[in-house]
Amino acid sequence: MIIVLLGPPASGKGTIAQEIEEKKGWKHISTGDLLRDEAEKPTERGKKLAEVMKTGNLVPDETVTETLKEFLQEHDLKSFILDGYPRTPRQAELLDQLLESRGQKVDLVLRLKCLNKTIIERISSRRVCPQCHAVYGLNIPPKEEGKCDHCGSALIQREDEKPETVLKRIKVYANVTKPLIDYYEEKGLVKEVNASLSLEEVFAQAFKALE
Ligand code: AMP
Repeated sequence: MIIVLLGPPASGKGTIAQEIEEKKGWKHISTGDLLRDEAEKPTERGKKLAEVMKTGNLVPDETVTETLKEFLQEHDLKSFILDGYPRTPRQAELLDQLLESRGQKVDLVLRLKCLNKTIIERISSRRVCPQCHAVYGLNIPPKEEGKCDHCGSALIQREDEKPETVLKRIKVYANVTKPLIDYYEEKGLVKEVNASLSLEEVFAQAFKALE
């Protein structure tokens, strides 16, 4: 089962993907996390990535696809959930090609819809673990303030989660993702989830869509 999660920043893509991974064992793959790991490396590629990501702009389609391809080659996965990829129609085409070469295809696209007001509220309270990438916020506070439940690392606020950058990311998402949604609508793969609701309701809707 290969699932694409589409939704604006902080619509809960990561949280839903983690829940599905826990319940179904399908690997959660966040290209944001893959790229952030890459951006921390002291290489030319790493430095370039860090520059782009700091501004909230998108990384070039070929670069992010290459990063995903390398990850899939390292981990031979049958079922996984793509969080944050594809983000453009070009990436959707590149993903189709990549999956085809592995004898796979996208089975379902979960589209998370969320109000801008809710997005801003959630992001201002969001903290992440720099070590294991767990995400905390209003709905899921860490057991001990400022510390990751899983590995005990000190939680941080992401560089690109300042309000100005968030507004930019919402705009970027709306502009570039519309044709992507059309692309998957045409293939009849899209199911919608109202991501402004409580976490329990969102999980219920998401798991219903997987049936
Ligand atoms: P995210 O954690 O998904 O919000 O991604 C954080 C940042 O990583 C984005 O603002 C982009 O700069 C970059 N990024 C992640 N996924 C992609 C993608 N599919 N295409 C282009 N850039 C991406």
